[in-house]
Amino acid sequence: MEYFSSDFTLGILGGGQLGKMLLYETRKWDVHTKVMDTSPEAPCKIGCNEFVLGDLMDHDAVYHFGKNVDLLTIEIENVNVDALEKLENEGIQVFPQSQVLRTIQNKATQKLFYRDHNIPTSDFSRFAYTSEIRKSITNGGLELPFVWKSAQFGYDGQGVKIIRKIEDLEGLPNVECITEELVSFRNELAVIVARNAKGKTKVYPVVEMEFHPEANQVEYVICPARIDEEVAKKAQETALKVSESFEHVGLLAVEMFQTYENDILVNEVAPRPHNSGHYSIEASYTNQFEQHIRCILGLPLGLTESKVAGVMVNLVGTDGHTGDVVYENIEDILAKRGVTPHIYGKKQTRPFRKMGHVTIVNENIERAREIAQQVKEKIRVISQSQ
Ligand code: ADP
Repeated sequence: MEYFSSDFTLGILGGGQLGKMLLYETRKWDVHTKVMDTSPEAPCKIGCNEFVLGDLMDHDAVYHFGKNVDLLTIEIENVNVDALEKLENEGIQVFPQSQVLRTIQNKATQKLFYRDHNIPTSDFSRFAYTSEIRKSITNGGLELPFVWKSAQFGYDGQGVKIIRKIEDLEGLPNVECITEELVSFRNELAVIVARNAKGKTKVYPVVEMEFHPEANQVEYVICPARIDEEVAKKAQETALKVSESFEHVGLLAVEMFQTYENDILVNEVAPRPHNSGHYSIEASYTNQFEQHIRCILGLPLGLTESKVAGVMVNLVGTDGHTGDVVYENIEDILAKRGVTPHIYGKKQTRPFRKMGHVTIVNENIERAREIAQQVKEKIRVISQSQ
C-alpha cells in the first residue's frame, strides 16, 4: 500500500491534543487523514484533511466513519467497540484492535486480564455497584484502606478515590467499580512499547512520573527515570510482557508502580500515544506519534533511544479560573534554555483542564528538572480578566 501523497486515508477517532500531535506527523509525511470528534472546536481541526462531527460512543456514527477510511486508529479509548468489531469483520483494519480496547475500557476486565496472564498487579475485588462495598467491609471481606475505581469512563484520576474510612465512600457514584489494594510506592513509572502487526516490538526508556498531590494529575514526566538500572530493566521487561499478552498493534503505554521492595506492579495501560511520551517530541530519535504511525502502517519501527534528557510539565488550568484562556509569562519561559511549550488549542480554560505541556531538554537531567520547576512556577494558565 502506498501511503505517502496518495489516496490512502487514515481515520482517527478523537480530535483532542493527542490527535493533533499525531497530525503533525501525518502532515510531515503527507498522509491523508480524516478525524471524527464530538466537538466542533476540537484541536485536530487545524491539522486533519477532513473533519467529521460525530459521537465517538455512537455505533452508527463510528461505523459509517470507519467505512469511509482505509485504516482506523484512535486517540481516545472511549469509542464504540461494537462498531469497531463490525468494521474489522468487514475487512477494515483497526489498530489498536477492538479486542484490546474492549479489555481495557473496563478496569475490572483489565485487571482480570493481568491476573490471567500472570502480569504482576495489585490485588483487587470487583463490585457491580459501589453500594455493595459497605457490606463487604462490614462482613470482613474487604479491609480499609483501599483505592476505589469506577470500572468505566474514568480518566485523569476522575474515577479514582483513596478510601481510608467508611465515610470516604459517601458521594461516590453507584456504579460498577473495583477496589484495589492501596500500593505504597516509591515511584510511578511508565514504559511505552511500540508493536507492529508482525509482532515486532521496540521499547522506549522508562520514565518517572511525579503527580500533583491534589488534582491527581501528572505534574512532571522525567526521562530517563532516575532509578537503578536493574529496576529499569525489570520495568521494560514487564511492559514487553504486557505488550505480548495484548498483541496490540500501535503503541501501548504501560503505567506501573515501583514498590519499596523494588517490585513492579502494572497499574493500567493505554493503547495509544500517551502523556508520558510527550517528552519524545523533543528528546527522542523517533517521537511517539511518528512511532504509532509507523506501527499501524507496517513501516519499519524507529529508534526509541533519547538524544538528550527530557522533562515534561503539564500545563493545566489554574484553580479558580474559568473562561477564555491566557498563557501568562509564556515569553519568560521561552527565553529559558531548551524549553518548548505546546499549546493544545482549547480556547476555554477550567481548573486543572489539560491545556498544553512544556518540554525541557538538557544534557543533564537534574538541570532539566530544575528548569522544569522554574517553568512550572512561572507560567500560569488563567482566564482573561473581564
Ligand atoms: P486514571 O485511569 O484516571 O488515570 P489511575 O488508575 O491511573 O486512574 O489512577 C490515578 C492515580 O491514582 C495513579 O496514578 C496513582 O497515583 C493513584 N493510584 C491508582 N491506583 C492505586 C493503587 N492501587 N495504590 C495506590 N495509588 C494508586
